Formats: sequence, structure tokens, C-alpha cells
Amino acid sequence: MNQASPAAPPVLKPEATIGILGGGQLGRMLALAAARLGFKCHVFAPHPDAPAFDVVRRVSRADYTDTGALARFAENVDVVTYEFENVPAETAAFLAARVPVLPDPKILAITQDRLAEKNFVAALGIRTAPFAEVSSPAELAVAIERVGRPAILKTRRFGYDGKGQAAIKNGSDPVSAWREVGGQPCILEAFVPFEREVSVIAARGSDGAVACFDVTENEHRDHILKFSRVPAALGAQAAAEAVRIAETIAHKFAYVGVLAVELFVLGDGGLTVNEIAPRVHNSGHWTIDGASVSQFEQHIRAIAGWPLAKPLRHGRVEMTNLIGQEVEDYRRWLVLPGAAVHLYGKTSVRPGRKMGHVTQVFPE
Ligand code: AMP
Repeated sequence: MNQASPAAPPVLKPEATIGILGGGQLGRMLALAAARLGFKCHVFAPHPDAPAFDVVRRVSRADYTDTGALARFAENVDVVTYEFENVPAETAAFLAARVPVLPDPKILAITQDRLAEKNFVAALGIRTAPFAEVSSPAELAVAIERVGRPAILKTRRFGYDGKGQAAIKNGSDPVSAWREVGGQPCILEAFVPFEREVSVIAARGSDGAVACFDVTENEHRDHILKFSRVPAALGAQAAAEAVRIAETIAHKFAYVGVLAVELFVLGDGGLTVNEIAPRVHNSGHWTIDGASVSQFEQHIRAIAGWPLAKPLRHGRVEMTNLIGQEVEDYRRWLVLPGAAVHLYGKTSVRPGRKMGHVTQVFPE
């Protein structure tokens, strides 16, 4: 992969159909943004009650390995995009042979694997936590020597919201951490004593233009995003550096679409990259109500070959996730002056499940 764009993606007409792999709330909000610009959407997802199904013209309810359904889907859409990073490589390759898939599925091979992702970021000269590959308990012992304690053992694949992670503290037994993550290929990461967590949502168009939203500060509860606040409490220099890091990553991937870069801010204002999400991101939900263009619209513009907008923020913004049973309180939010309520239409409430969010915009 290099800085040159791959085969020029198509420039869509407003009546074109955008295919979305994945039917969660991100797919739903992508489809709503696409509809505003005149596009039709076709969502492909295996779950019968996928939240995105409720808001689109066509749906394919099938498994990601169902090549018959994938072939029909490809015939019916002008471009395919995805709302989650764990799209199976074979699914992406099957579709890419038939229809443009954006962002380029080659990027998934890097971002699906924490080791490949960390190596990619480090090769760009961007700081990450010290890390080491771990494929066995013996390698874990060597990795602890190198990385030190405290550290976090993370599975290389399929981790999210803190799942597939185990802490290795001073005095704790590494073998039990290895068992806790299921004895899978992992990386060991030094624990970063960060002051705050921030993210940059960057859009890159097919013409190579990049537009970033203002740096967002994120607060997690039980490893799940609870609040995003913009602007982040960050010096101008650190904020500019965070944006520069996201731009560098987007260009290196020759990315087309929206990506999120999650960063830790250290006590001295230094930044380290935690992870990259090759998709729209929960920490960018504030952009729907808090900016002149949303992350979802920027993504649709990019994959349609349309120019990106320059995002202008409407004020100081706070986004609150409604997680699990918190959604039952939606009536309180409905009557709160200035609050914009988003409910994802999920039929069953489960602990830790993202059910909706609320955005509040305040004068700056
Ligand atoms: P991740 O799934 O890698 O984004 O990790 C989930 C959360 O765990 C992050 O948002 C941090 O709050 C915390 N975390 C992950 N990696 C580290 C690290 N190396 N040092 C300190 N905290 C971490």
C-alpha cells in the first residue's frame, strides 16, 4: 500500500445505491445520511432485526459467507462499504471482484490485527505503547521482560469494548492472563498512564483531500464509551499533533471514507496511538447535531466520489451514550431543552449494549 490512490473509485449520481455490510447503529446512521443526499441504501447483515434494516430500501438478510446472497447484493449496488472492521477477508475479496468496495479491503487486514496495526503505526514514526508479540506462555514471559509491568495482554483479533483483554499487574500470574484471553495469538502492551483519551475522526476523499473533525475527548465506563466531549481539553499544539497523526495514517492507507484514531494523552501532552477504526466511530456521533456535516455524511460523500465538506462545529458538544437499561430513561432526555435524542430501534436491552445516544450543544 502506498500514497497513490488505487483504481479511481466511481463518482455516483444521487439516485445510486450504496451497499452497506453490517446492520448495526453505524449502518443505520450511514443510511440516514445517505438518504439525505438522495442515495438509496441496501444493507447486508445476518441478524433478523438489524437496526439498519428499518431505514433502507432493500435488505439482504444472509450470512457473510453466503456467496449466492453476496453475488446478488453486488449486482444491486453501485458501491459497497462497511460499518464494522471484522468483515471476513473472503467476503470483502468476493465483493471487491464484482463491485467497488471502499475503504479498500486491504486496510482491513491491518486493522483487524492489533500486531499488524501497531507495526503499521510504528513504521510511520508515530508513538504507540511499547508492545510485543505473544503466541505462547513462554513468549509471554519474554514479552514481560521487554515491555515491563503493568501491561495488558490483548488478543490480536476480534477485541472490542475491552473484550479479549487481561491486565498483568505487578505480582499477578501471567499464565492466568493467558488463559483469560483464551490462549490465542496476542500482543502484550505496556500500560499507558494516560491523563485522558481522545480521538480524531478523519475523512479522506477519493481526490486525496482530508477533513478532520475537532479532537474529541472520550470517557469510558467499564471499557465502554460513555461520554464524548468536544473540544477536548488539550493544548493547541497537542490537538494539532493529534490531527496530523490521523492525516498521516489516512494518507498512508490511501484511505477513502471515514476513519477514527484513538489516542492516549500523557501528562506531558505527548500522544500515543491506541487503535485505528476503519469506519465511522461512536466518538464521532456528536457530529450529527454538533457540526455542519456529520461523520456519516462525510463517509458517504467520500465513497460516492463527492467532495468532502469542511466541518464547522456549532458549539461545545457533549454526547452521552445510552447503554443497556439507561435507554429506558429516554423520556427524561426528550424533554431536556436542547438535547437531541437518537434511539437505535434495538428490540432487546442487554447490559453493555449501545441502545442510543443524546447530543447536547452549548454555546462556547
Ligand atoms: P482497546 O480495546 O484497545 O481500545 O482498549 C479499551 C480501553 O482499555 C481503552 O479505551 C483504554 O481505556 C484501556 N486501555 C487499552 N490499552 C491500554 C494501555 N496500553 N494502557 C492503558 N489503558 C489501556
